[in-house]
Amino acid sequence: MPSASNGDSAKPAARLPAPLEWIARPLARLSVSHFNLRAGLTSDSLISVLLIAAGIWIGNMRPALAALTVLCGLFAFTFIEYAAHRWLFHGNTGPFKTGHDHHHDNPLGYDALPFFMPPLFMCALGALFALVLPAGYALLLAGVIAAGYAAYGLSHVVIHVHRFKSPLMRRWVGFHNIHHFHPEANFGVTTGLWDVILGTRYKRQPRHAPGHA
Ligand SMILES: [Zn+2]
Ligand SMILES: [Zn+2]
Repeated sequence: MPSASNGDSAKPAARLPAPLEWIARPLARLSVSHFNLRAGLTSDSLISVLLIAAGIWIGNMRPALAALTVLCGLFAFTFIEYAAHRWLFHGNTGPFKTGHDHHHDNPLGYDALPFFMPPLFMCALGALFALVLPAGYALLLAGVIAAGYAAYGLSHVVIHVHRFKSPLMRRWVGFHNIHHFHPEANFGVTTGLWDVILGTRYKRQPRHAPGHA
């Protein structure tokens, strides 16, 4: 998924119609730049704060329901993170896969979604939620999902650039590092929850004794 090398850069697919190439090429260049990575980490955090603040401001929310909305948003984000990584970035084809492949080739690269895309997506999500929820709760829910995404982006950068001393943190970092060696496992980045639920958590292969098949 997207990060310091969120990996989800929008590199153009092999052959696109000419008008799309005009859009895809600059986006592809942007998505591998250091500027885009920094701008993305900033705008992801900013949009989450703005959406949550707007939700509270419009609000009139009941504290218990607001707390439930926050929990639902965090839970929903963990699945979005897992699903996007497993089925979009490791899908069969497409620009997301191309960008993510770059991240797997070079985990310290700057591959990431164009910085303005996730905030636009989060705003659209808020508008969508507002069709079925009161506006305050809709914005809060979208804001919490956006906060999860921002945390994911920062986590992914930290995982690849920082060396932790704490055994707990090393274990957490190791979960994603294993994914880089075994791309069919460990799709969660901030949490391995859905890998456990859906059976994609990496399992160490038992070693065979010499002389045994
Ligand atoms: Zn990675
Ligand atoms: Zn991956």
